Amino acid sequence: MTIKEKDFDRRRLLPSVDKVLRHSGLLIDKWGRSRVTDCLRNELIRIRALPIDDFGQEVTLDEIIKIVEHRLLMSDESSFRRIINLSGIVLHTNLGRASLPKKAIEAVVSVASCPTNLEYDLKSGGRGERDHHVEQLICELTGVEAATVVNNNAAALLLVLNTLADQKEVPVSRGELVEIGGAFRIPDIMIRSGCQLVEIGTTNRTHLRDYECAINHRTAILLKVHTCNFRVEGFTAAVEENKLSVLAKQNGIPLVVDVGSGNMIDMDKLGLPREPIVSKAVTDGADIVTFSGDKLLGGPQCGIISGRRDLINRIRKNPLKRALRPDKMIYAALAEVLKLYRNPCELEKELPTIRFLKRSVVEIEAQAKRLVPQLSAVLPNDYSVSADICNSQIGSGALPVENIPSYGLIVSAVNDARLIQLLNAFRKLPYPVVGRLSKGKLILDIRCLELETQFSTQLSELSDLLK
Ligand SMILES: *Cc1c(COP(=O)(O)O)cnc(C)c1O
Repeated sequence: MTIKEKDFDRRRLLPSVDKVLRHSGLLIDKWGRSRVTDCLRNELIRIRALPIDDFGQEVTLDEIIKIVEHRLLMSDESSFRRIINLSGIVLHTNLGRASLPKKAIEAVVSVASCPTNLEYDLKSGGRGERDHHVEQLICELTGVEAATVVNNNAAALLLVLNTLADQKEVPVSRGELVEIGGAFRIPDIMIRSGCQLVEIGTTNRTHLRDYECAINHRTAILLKVHTCNFRVEGFTAAVEENKLSVLAKQNGIPLVVDVGSGNMIDMDKLGLPREPIVSKAVTDGADIVTFSGDKLLGGPQCGIISGRRDLINRIRKNPLKRALRPDKMIYAALAEVLKLYRNPCELEKELPTIRFLKRSVVEIEAQAKRLVPQLSAVLPNDYSVSADICNSQIGSGALPVENIPSYGLIVSAVNDARLIQLLNAFRKLPYPVVGRLSKGKLILDIRCLELETQFSTQLSELSDLLK
């Protein structure tokens, strides 16, 4: 058979576009004629291109309408899925970092639903300032005079450097020229902000005299970056904020500190790895402190710039601020998250990030043990499941070597291929489950599993996926 004859034959097995459209009234009512027509054309092309074994017989009118309807329904589905994060990384950047507390979600829905006084002063009827919705709260919590908000901490650093150090020199310790996840590198952001990076000291040791030697009439600020995601051990030295702030003052230039995670509480007291506290940088004399909203702070994605009022005013006037400002939903969520910090008891109950980090191992262990028989029951018998100790991490740039003891479901398989199959099957569930592979086993860290039935009721679908 020549190609032409084959195509001719196969085309005759399909109803024509016109004929299908004449019988697709309900679809056209719902999706409109042009979308149904486009979808139908694409489906016919797809079916015609199938290998002869898959498409060798007639496709009825009803069948093709069903296929088109299914396609249209699928294309209307959100690409976002709710994921069950059993990776053990509490703040997982690829999974959207912090989950918001209930009050913040309600506030987002409220401001998203109708006009609101985002930048409108209800007393005077004049223009307001969007920062006012959160500024007082940030000042209260961190002890600064003023604050402003941008889209993330990378943007915060860009805006601060561009405002205070454009065309000028900024000395930074070589030990702090770090890369923080993805494409964010301190030297790159410094260059883009228009300032001139002056590398000082060495990777492992930088002294006060290195800063002293670097300062000249072209120096705009001193910058200290919290090197959150790695640690240099052994023969090391760095200059503390309190010493740097004295030097900055002597030279009449501001000290800018990027603390990264936006931690507000003493993690030691919660038995967690120590993270720098924003207010400590302020009492140590930083003139500007920047941090993320969606790391340990536990809020929406944003970057907070806090510090001296005169400097914050200059930063607000930078035209780039307009390009970097967050929308009303972010402000609404951030305000509610910050309010939780006024009451530590409420914070530990209501803020998911802190709640996950604070869970006791005993509680996690009990939950893991409860789930072992449920998972075992649905897995083919070339898998074996147990509960055992594992390690969680804070994630999002916090020290990866600092482990938080946790408990997990540990699954082993007869071989690697079978293990990968299981990993894939978990991702295909209605609520995809993300675990992690370690030493040839799949670990499902139970620390962040709050909706247990959402997880367990879908497990039965695994057996089909693993056939
Ligand atoms: C995470 C981090 C950043 C980047 O913050 P984003 O909010 O992700 O843009 C910058 N500096 C430090 C020290 C960080 O830890």
